[in-house]
Amino acid sequence: MARVYNFSAGPATLPLEVLQEAQAEFVDFKGTGMSLIEASHRGKAYDAVHEEAVANISKLAGLTDDYAVAFMTGGASQQFAQIPMNLLGENDTADHVNTGAWTKKAIAEAKLQRSIKVIADVSKESPLRMPREDEFKVNKDAVYLHLCSNETIAGTQLKKFPKVDVPIVADMSSDMFSRPFDIRQFGAIYAGAQKNMGPAGVTIVIMRKDLAARVSEKVPKIFRYTTHIENNSLYNTPPTFSIYIVMLVTRWIMKNGGLAGIEKMNAAKAAKIYDAIDASSFYRSPVANDSRSFMNITFRLPSEELEAQFVAEAKKLKMDGLKGHRDVGGIRASIYNAFPMEGIDALVQFMTDFEKKNG
Ligand SMILES: *Cc1c(COP(=O)(O)O)cnc(C)c1O
Repeated sequence: MARVYNFSAGPATLPLEVLQEAQAEFVDFKGTGMSLIEASHRGKAYDAVHEEAVANISKLAGLTDDYAVAFMTGGASQQFAQIPMNLLGENDTADHVNTGAWTKKAIAEAKLQRSIKVIADVSKESPLRMPREDEFKVNKDAVYLHLCSNETIAGTQLKKFPKVDVPIVADMSSDMFSRPFDIRQFGAIYAGAQKNMGPAGVTIVIMRKDLAARVSEKVPKIFRYTTHIENNSLYNTPPTFSIYIVMLVTRWIMKNGGLAGIEKMNAAKAAKIYDAIDASSFYRSPVANDSRSFMNITFRLPSEELEAQFVAEAKKLKMDGLKGHRDVGGIRASIYNAFPMEGIDALVQFMTDFEKKNG
């Protein structure tokens, strides 16, 4: 089997055992005589999958009865519009922080609907960083504070969520379930599955029920969180196959020590690459030390020519997807939960060899 080390930012690498299990039961799901993707979303076989996915997510996130899980579509991008559409009445406002490309899109979508405030903007700073605790000066009238926990393109990650007086709404698309967190700080969390949780097509939403209930009767039913929560994400046909893989991935996380166990693995993986960058004057991190992402590691070489050569030579050694995002250039190694340690060791070895030849 010729699997590569897949450093892609998303869709991204998934646990091999999850892919193999899905493959083994793809044509005949657990003796039903049909594939799960051919099965009714209201049938017994799919129902068990759906319930386990919800239960696993609830357990990993430590949800209490006042929170609900919903499986939605349209990606995190749809949430940028749907959060203000549901949570903000005509005269309501929210606070946002701008930390890069994704939060900028969230701000633009919110501004189309309501007058929201940007209370901190670090998107143009160098070195790249996340705001410090004292920079989250929330307004008293804000219904929520919107932030992104991990900027996938810049390679920055918020290491500690701020203690603020309003619920946090977090775009966790690229670091969902990569570390423990305290759910009580959050009014809502959302994540497109394709970075860290499964295939594209499903967005995982966790929301406090009282916030979902703020929705106006004028919002079309299909766009209301309450509709999806009340119908256990079965109001319309959900992306059943994507949810099935999310269920297998959450099972895999639990088997690997839950969020604490996964965080330990992620920290060890990221440290190896950052240590290699810091030990060299050839590689350079554009990110401040205290904001370095454990998920998307961005770095530069002395020239764009060398960066192109680095990506091309790595690809020949079965290390795929190392080219940085087109907006920022450079190198980006996305090493989500499922990315194996052997792939990290291969990259670090390659970095050493490449510097020796070209440094
Ligand atoms: C990828 C990504 C998005 C966009 O996700 P879609 O599912 O493509 O809409 C939003 N936010 C973050 C942090 C991301 O990494």
